[in-house]
Amino acid sequence: MFRFRCVSCDEWHEEMPTFGAEAPLYFYSVPTGDRDSRCILESDTCVVDREHFFVRGCLELPVIGERELFSWGVWVSLSKDHFDDFVACFNTPKRSHIGPFFGWLSAELPLYPSTENLKTRVHLRDNGIRPYIELEPTDHPLAVEQRNGITVDRVAEIYAYCVHSQA
Ligand SMILES: [Zn+2]
Repeated sequence: MFRFRCVSCDEWHEEMPTFGAEAPLYFYSVPTGDRDSRCILESDTCVVDREHFFVRGCLELPVIGERELFSWGVWVSLSKDHFDDFVACFNTPKRSHIGPFFGWLSAELPLYPSTENLKTRVHLRDNGIRPYIELEPTDHPLAVEQRNGITVDRVAEIYAYCVHSQA
């Protein structure tokens, strides 16, 4: 059984945690009072000003020695055409043969140098599973973690930060 000890409060946890934003980073740059008129935010898609198109996916990191993956819930921006493709097959069980799509990461994850606008590829998955977000294989620490995996201790560190807002 996967378990780790929170580095902040010392409690044991027995499930792989996941963290993410409910909207693209770009959405939060729109003043609160304007969001209703300028943004259409759904569970898996977001459109801002009818010209910025975002979808939600999973930026997964292997955890060394574990079967389960750690997942950052993130949003990426797609071109209008690819966004339309995404929406067109959203309710289709078999869609993994479509794409991948190029996307810019619209997320700022804690504990990393800036992650906004990292280049990604969005891989659709079947049966309603959110897309897999593959980072461009650069030297950015997040991309390195996606390639090489992270330790259980790193999961505990991320957990402590996200739950207790401290490193
Ligand atoms: Zn804790």
